[in-house]
Amino acid sequence: MDKDRKWGLNTKAIHEGYHTDPATGSLSLPIYQTSTFVFSSAEEGAKRFAGEEAGYVYSRLGNPTVSAFEQKVAALEKAESGLAFASGMAAISAVLLGLLKTGDHILCSKGLYGCTFGLLGLIQERFGITYSLCDMNDETSIVTALQPNTKVIYVETPINPTMQLVDLSMIGKIGKQKKIKTVVDNTFMSPYLQRPIEHGCDIVLHSATKFIGGHGDVVAGIVVGSKEMMETLRMTTQKDIGGILAPFDAYLLVRGLKTLGIRMERHCKNAQKVAEYLAEHSKVSQVYYPGLPSFTQHALAKKQMDGFGGIISFELKGGYEAGVKMMNRVRLCKRAVSLGDVDSLIQHPASMTHSIIPATDREKMGITNGLIRLSVGIEDFDDIVHDLDQALSSA
Ligand SMILES: *Cc1c(COP(=O)(O)O)cnc(C)c1O
Repeated sequence: MDKDRKWGLNTKAIHEGYHTDPATGSLSLPIYQTSTFVFSSAEEGAKRFAGEEAGYVYSRLGNPTVSAFEQKVAALEKAESGLAFASGMAAISAVLLGLLKTGDHILCSKGLYGCTFGLLGLIQERFGITYSLCDMNDETSIVTALQPNTKVIYVETPINPTMQLVDLSMIGKIGKQKKIKTVVDNTFMSPYLQRPIEHGCDIVLHSATKFIGGHGDVVAGIVVGSKEMMETLRMTTQKDIGGILAPFDAYLLVRGLKTLGIRMERHCKNAQKVAEYLAEHSKVSQVYYPGLPSFTQHALAKKQMDGFGGIISFELKGGYEAGVKMMNRVRLCKRAVSLGDVDSLIQHPASMTHSIIPATDREKMGITNGLIRLSVGIEDFDDIVHDLDQALSSA
């Protein structure tokens, strides 16, 4: 490793976390498919258990393949340290349960990933950790919504499905002033496009299932932050609840991350052109994409994001029926939930992810009957638009 030089993001994505296996010279990260690690002596075992000597003990407490992934994401997010989990939800639950106790309060951005919302309800009911939602449009709205027992501000930006943004510098500043931990779910952006720690936020987490892995072949989560906070989580909710990442999955994520930069650039380029195409389409009434100059928070997007991402939501004038018709007509775009894959993925929340929620409640969440979410892949742009065009002709 070249210690004299500060690497750029693309170089880090390839080289951070693993530097050629000294025993074999393996260029590629070895998969340490082992549950446990053999001590060379009783004294070594004792020191490792006491935390007096660095080294591995048991794969729930740490594994070299998983460590390489943790270090890579930490470097990309400009964090001191990282912790990997078996899913995005395992990461989110470990963070919230690790930071909070009964009687504490979480202030959340309005509009959250569905299962995060479910988790908040669960920990409120079972453990007395309360939460409230806030639109977070300006500083006053946030400060007013804080309670004396608020211990965490939890933010997603952009927010699914309206793509509304939250100003990360504002969140970071309020957190520092009020000594409240700020947690950002950065799944929609990836560290290539947005690094909340640069804006003063404390903890960043991802569903690594999405852009970090990028190939739709693994479910995983990652949390990064200060060494102290990560060490606390490692020794509490990660160790004792145990939702750890498997070595093979860590290997796939490390492999995926090597192409993060070129993937994100193509996602952004394709999504921008698709959003412009949709904005002109006669069957589309509204397009939500931060890269469109007409997007209400376009200026904030340019300030805090290095690109506008690969996710677009749009409204069909024909409502629910048009949505179902479009879903049945796509050929290239895959009808599937999840996002951030090299493949274009399309879904209709009203008939799929959010179908069990009554229409009136859905509307309050910004999920109208004709809303479609598209995760634009890295295929040739002409092929994506050709597919959308023929599918929209039926809508
Ligand atoms: C998918 C997703 C999650 C949950 O991650 P899993 O890996 O599916 O557990 C959390 N937050 C956001 C924004 C997501 O898109």
